[in-house]
Amino acid sequence: MTYATQPTASHFINGSYVEDTAGTPIEVIYPATGKVIATVHAATPAIIEQALDAAKAAQKAWAAISGTERGRILRRAAEIMRVRNHDLSVLETWDTGKPYQETSVVDATSGADALEYYGGMAATLTGEHIQLGENWVYTRREALGVCVGIGAWNYPTQIACWKGAPALACGNAMVFKPSETTPLCALKVAEILHEAGLPAGLYNVIQGMGEVGGALVTDPRVNKVSLTGSVPTGRKVYAAAAAGIKHVTMELGGKSPMIVFEDADIENAVSGAILGNFYSSGQVCSNGTRVFVHTAIKEAFLARLSERLGHAVIGDPMDPETSFGPMVSRRQLDIVLGYIEKGKAEGARLVTGGAAIEGAGFFLQPTVFADVTDDMVIAREEIFGPVMAVLDFEDEADVMARANDTEFGLAAGVFTRDLARAHRVAAGFEAGTCYINTYNDAPVEAPFGGMKASGVGRENARAAIEHYSQLKSVFVRMDDVEAPF
Ligand code: NDP
Repeated sequence: MTYATQPTASHFINGSYVEDTAGTPIEVIYPATGKVIATVHAATPAIIEQALDAAKAAQKAWAAISGTERGRILRRAAEIMRVRNHDLSVLETWDTGKPYQETSVVDATSGADALEYYGGMAATLTGEHIQLGENWVYTRREALGVCVGIGAWNYPTQIACWKGAPALACGNAMVFKPSETTPLCALKVAEILHEAGLPAGLYNVIQGMGEVGGALVTDPRVNKVSLTGSVPTGRKVYAAAAAGIKHVTMELGGKSPMIVFEDADIENAVSGAILGNFYSSGQVCSNGTRVFVHTAIKEAFLARLSERLGHAVIGDPMDPETSFGPMVSRRQLDIVLGYIEKGKAEGARLVTGGAAIEGAGFFLQPTVFADVTDDMVIAREEIFGPVMAVLDFEDEADVMARANDTEFGLAAGVFTRDLARAHRVAAGFEAGTCYINTYNDAPVEAPFGGMKASGVGRENARAAIEHYSQLKSVFVRMDDVEAPF
């Protein structure tokens, strides 16, 4: 890879880049061309040991300094990320294939938002005082210790920051393992944090496949595990963490419903459906991939949707005009094509798309199926690609039952002009993140996470603080101690 800001080695440990070429090589492939742009090496047991040792050694002193000082470093890192937004966005595009048009406004910027937000909050973290007559209790909000972050491949910069920022604000150290598919961006986050003044050892990045993640999760030095990934991986990681009674945050997959009532503003509903199905080529966990459209407006909705999808600019992700990029990998392209075949075989009506785009890279047409029924595989399983399933409905109670009839509970959306109905529907959704007349907003100020199989815990907002800190109660007796004998 010849890009100027490329990371200079596979791992970042104890404040520096570290290489160990004995680890299994992992080729980094640019999804737009299928060409290898870099090679990193999976962490060997020696690298895993170095990272955990460094984190353990650095954490206590970090927790002991004031929140104001910790926060200042995080805010400085946010500033550096903003100044380097262009370079970081280009790297994000190399890593994931997402168009620069997206990465330049979403990835490093939302990472910087998280660093800035928790940088501001670090100084406000306190316990409380509880009076018990003349005696009293105070609580101390303490760090958990060493946290492990394990990332998915769709938002490598953002995930590294969403986990790192609250962890560091609370006084923890972190060892982060990116997805093997997108290993580059988290290294730059580590580099920037240390440039901003983060003491060595507090934010380490090591590469590897599932087994490296597995070794981190089971290590006795680790107190908390935060995973962004699929539900099957979540089950494994949660179980492994449970064996060690470790804290967990699980941000997992979804098959979220979006309900478009007959009184909805169709243009806005189409915009929401586009954002909730085709942004990042559909590789977003909270996507509203089951779009229930009232039969009264279904054909008008589909017609306008098809027209708008015709305006997608598919091509070179580095071209600022491009609005739709490739899938992240050949493997993901094949998985999604498999689902498209299943949709056709099960009798869904293919409205638009449905095929890979010939040529280099892992490009796929934005795809819409209509007349989808609840039992079809494309309506039940997470596809994680640009495939929208449109389902019919006529009755609110009926559509709510169908919307909630899934093991997942990550997100859900409703489009309607009826205010009472909008809030009633939002209250009825079994999902952690709900949208009224919008879709897929994810500002750092709002808690984000799933119900049911979609997750445990919340990222972002003050809620994340609860998942990166613990309370210690200290009882103080002012009078004599009474004992029975
Ligand atoms: P995976 O679940 O395959 O992997 C997630 C991460 O876990 C990767 O870094 C992976 O390593 C690692 N891993 C795999 N097995 C283990 C194991 N046994 N122990 C420890 N770590 C392990 O997800 P993808 O990377 O394919 O990402 C897509 C999935 O992520 C989708 O299902 C999506 O819904 C979900 N997701 C959820 C989000 C949320 O916030 N709820 C946000 C974004 C994505 P490696 O892949 O390198 O082997």
